[in-house]
Amino acid sequence: MTQGTLLVLVGPAGAGKTTLAHLLQKRAPGQRAFSISHTTRTRRANEADGVDYYFVDRPDFEALRDRAGFAEWAEVHGNLYGTSRAEIARLHRDGKLALFDIDIVGAHNLWRLYPDEVRLAFLLPPSWQVLVDRLLARGTETPDIVRRRLRTARIELHAVCASPAPWHIVVNDQLEVAADHLEALLAVPPPPAEDPRAHPSVQAFLRDADADPRAA
Ligand code: 5GP
Repeated sequence: MTQGTLLVLVGPAGAGKTTLAHLLQKRAPGQRAFSISHTTRTRRANEADGVDYYFVDRPDFEALRDRAGFAEWAEVHGNLYGTSRAEIARLHRDGKLALFDIDIVGAHNLWRLYPDEVRLAFLLPPSWQVLVDRLLARGTETPDIVRRRLRTARIELHAVCASPAPWHIVVNDQLEVAADHLEALLAVPPPPAEDPRAHPSVQAFLRDADADPRAA
């Protein structure tokens, strides 16, 4: 692994990004750190400021953005999210592997900024049905939010298929296997990128997503 590698995890809510990021950190204590984003979203009960996110209001976010304080930022579901340049500098300074949970727009922007350091992983649940079941099982989300998440999942995967960036598709069926796959992406040189459109899980996922009216 090179110093300063940025491992970017993209994928639908319910793909297991957070769980996998924690597992990777547990596997190499003190060597891997989570990039803490700024967001204008309201803090959830189980979240802490400065741990899960830096929670800021919109004027503060926009002021930092206008001072070119973000390496990347995006609007997701009506809220602003961004990775500050200061956060990237902190991660670089510490020489740790930096883990990112960001959307596809942010992933593209990070890749353009750090083409040699970034590894792009798109995390996929084993099937569309599993994703639907996981989102419904949470029981905390309204039907509207579930639909929005399903729609975002479908759109993001189409975007990955059309993307010029070097993606790796990681199917999260068994956690440890998916974590091993992510570890393999850290090799130097990295494994060759794959064409997502040729990946059987991607094909099956998109076929079911496109046929699901909840994701339209
Ligand atoms: P949530 O509000 O559920 O924590 O996150 C919503 C979405 O925002 C997720 O897709 C997450 O990956 C994305 N996100 C979180 N932080 C950032 C960030 O700093 N930049 C970008 N571009 N997206 C982010």
